[in-house]
Amino acid sequence: MLVAEILAKKGNKVFKILPAKTVMEAVTGMVSFKVGAVMVVDERDAILGIFTERDLSRVLVSRGASVLDSPVGDHMTRNPVPCKASDTVPAVMSLMSRHHFRHMPVFDDKGLCGIVSIRDLVSNSLERAEFEAEMMRAYVTAS
Ligand code: AMP
Repeated sequence: MLVAEILAKKGNKVFKILPAKTVMEAVTGMVSFKVGAVMVVDERDAILGIFTERDLSRVLVSRGASVLDSPVGDHMTRNPVPCKASDTVPAVMSLMSRHHFRHMPVFDDKGLCGIVSIRDLVSNSLERAEFEAEMMRAYVTAS
């Protein structure tokens, strides 16, 4: 199974924000888009970084509530590790696990084409395992 197939089901929408926007604006967008991460981009849409719920918890605890008024670009992780639409799901899951993060921007030949979370990948793998188990049951029962 390829990451491209996950995006085909999930869609290609990516929530993006300029680095000068505030942490509060980033969080408000994350809540309304129902996502756990935002890509921070420049005016030409080039990716500068990623800001996730984990970053929000970290900066709130270390800096207090006033951090919500500061630029999200000050708190993002720069140059996020990307994956390709043509990568396999197990390869991307293992990369996420090795790096201890749960989100990855996805690129194809034309550029950024989506973002996947560990949740997308795990739920897809579970569906696939359930389907395979069902097929095995049907095979065993039929024979
Ligand atoms: P997450 O588990 O995705 O909420 O992220 C945990 C930490 O890793 C946060 O500081 C994120 O900014 C950072 N992070 C998330 N995704 C990536 C990525 N693809 N590349 C580099 N850092 C990331």
